[in-house]
Amino acid sequence: MAKILAVTNQKGGVGKTTTCVNLAASLVATKRRVLLVDLDPQGNATMGSGVNKQTLSASVYDVLTGQKEVVDALVKSESGGFDLLPANGDLTAAEVQLLELPNKEKRLSYALAKAASQYDYIIVDCPPSLNMLTVNALAAANGVIIPMQCEYYALEGLTALLDTIQRISRVLNANLKIEGLLRTMYDPRTSLANEVSSQLVNHFGDKVYRTVIPRNIRLAEAPSFGMPALAYDKASRGAVAYLALAGEMLRRQETPLKQESA
Ligand code: ADP
Ligand code: MG
Repeated sequence: MAKILAVTNQKGGVGKTTTCVNLAASLVATKRRVLLVDLDPQGNATMGSGVNKQTLSASVYDVLTGQKEVVDALVKSESGGFDLLPANGDLTAAEVQLLELPNKEKRLSYALAKAASQYDYIIVDCPPSLNMLTVNALAAANGVIIPMQCEYYALEGLTALLDTIQRISRVLNANLKIEGLLRTMYDPRTSLANEVSSQLVNHFGDKVYRTVIPRNIRLAEAPSFGMPALAYDKASRGAVAYLALAGEMLRRQETPLKQESA
């Protein structure tokens, strides 16, 4: 059965989508079967995977509203080598429509359950808010990856996110755990980044991935070519960092952390 990972942080621009696309491609490079679910109406993960969001014949919207099964809405990311459940602006309507549907928090969970045996990892890219779409992602997931930029306001909002995760694990999904906090767009030359980074490690210990994603121009350029960095420039520091993250995740999975908290 696939491990389902929600990549979430209600802050925009912290590297959620970049992490999703590049982690998905890196897991494929280590021979894992991967499905990437784009759950953001902006469709950035879709475009960044080389799929045109304007010409989709079906999307995650159809899956959430019960009109399509996951297998019938999938497309292949040629540049990433993973399957993609794509999204576009239609998904904005789903946020509202979900409220009127039965099992409104569990619709993604039930839909993914039917596809889970086909994959080793299912990665869900969340929108930048704690809305019903994010609740669906958290209700479906076993693990949460929280990308964070080590800047002054990074820790603000983290409490709200951790509260939400705890509430969902209590009410909707007892399997939900924090998989890891990921430092993104890291610039070790700034003392603020180093300070916030050590605060994170002091506070969250082993939950902070050792792998740090550097600020790297290739990671920012690759999406405009519809590629993960691994396909765009596989020697770039960004591509190498996400490969290292995949390696760290796989090692952690094989030797799970002793101390568990969610
Ligand atoms: P989110 O999904 O959290 O809104 P994105 O992944 O879209 O964040 O990243 C926000 C912006 O920062 C994008 O333009 C992206 O290309 C860029 N970016 C993300 N990670 C990096 C990085 N490590 N180095 C340089 N640019 C990055
Ligand atoms: Mg995004």
